[in-house]
Amino acid sequence: METQQQEYESLPIWRNYVDDDYELYYVDYRDDLSEQKGIIEECVRKNNLCPISEKIDEWWEYPEGYQLDEIKKNMENDGFGYVYDECQDYIREWLWEHDTSDPVKDLLRNTGGMTFFYDLGIEVDGWHEAFLCSPWRGETEAQAAYKIRRKLGIKKGTKEARYIDQLVANASYGGHLRIYFNADLENLVDGYDGSHNAKTIVFKGRFAVAVYDPVNGSGDYQDMNIDCSFAFNRDNLFLSCKSVERYTIEDCFGMSDGWAEEYNEPTFSAKPSKHKTRTSSTSAIADQEAEYERVFKAGGCTCGDTNLKRHRNVHYINMPPCRLECPHCGQEWID
Ligand SMILES: [Zn+2]
Repeated sequence: METQQQEYESLPIWRNYVDDDYELYYVDYRDDLSEQKGIIEECVRKNNLCPISEKIDEWWEYPEGYQLDEIKKNMENDGFGYVYDECQDYIREWLWEHDTSDPVKDLLRNTGGMTFFYDLGIEVDGWHEAFLCSPWRGETEAQAAYKIRRKLGIKKGTKEARYIDQLVANASYGGHLRIYFNADLENLVDGYDGSHNAKTIVFKGRFAVAVYDPVNGSGDYQDMNIDCSFAFNRDNLFLSCKSVERYTIEDCFGMSDGWAEEYNEPTFSAKPSKHKTRTSSTSAIADQEAEYERVFKAGGCTCGDTNLKRHRNVHYINMPPCRLECPHCGQEWID
């Protein structure tokens, strides 16, 4: 009894005014990251959740403020206001050390699954058109279908093979071979501890297999059952969003955010895969888009950028070939 009393007395006064646990960050069930696609995509690129933590530091500048005020009030009521003023830094430290909240986890839980895609690094050719030329294509539809079947391990004559034929026929302008799926961000990146270490990505179950051209916003996708694995190349993994490409597959087909929820999630393995994955041109396209955007924001424009909105004073030339023309960079859009 006596020792307890002594121990009690040896504690600093402010210790009587603090709790053992605190939740400094309060995340409402309505708060989520569904409108923060750029941050999610940054996490995929960096392979960690730090971009979210950094945002949290911005959003909650002073998360311990409320608790500090409460403690101060209670101490002042007991005539210990001067102790509070002296010990504020210790109290603040205590709050941080005893904070059990995890706002990154809470926000991600509220956000749920999002639509990602894995680009298989294969480009499927389609029909090309040019002024005064008849349309042509580099590989036949049968060749394109064969290339896709071989990559996905689909046998000729199966139901899936018929889906691939449809895919090639509908994606008449060609595009990138991709697999779209729904996943939680945490399952696609290393945690804070770097435990992910994925070498192989495994698709087993129902997925959306797409041939999609993000520059023109055209293509097709088919729901199908696949069972295949590829060497995991992070440069080919993306969140389907505007920070990656101007026309997302959602824009192209008018789909809402949750369209991929019915699909399975890929799994990862630390064992190396025999099936290599070539880096897709999707990241180069994303970099190019970012560069066009940067030049336009700085007041200029770029010949080669087909986005009309990123040129100024575009006018119509009513002489064959009739076309729109940008007077600054010379970019043309032929009718
Ligand atoms: Zn221009």
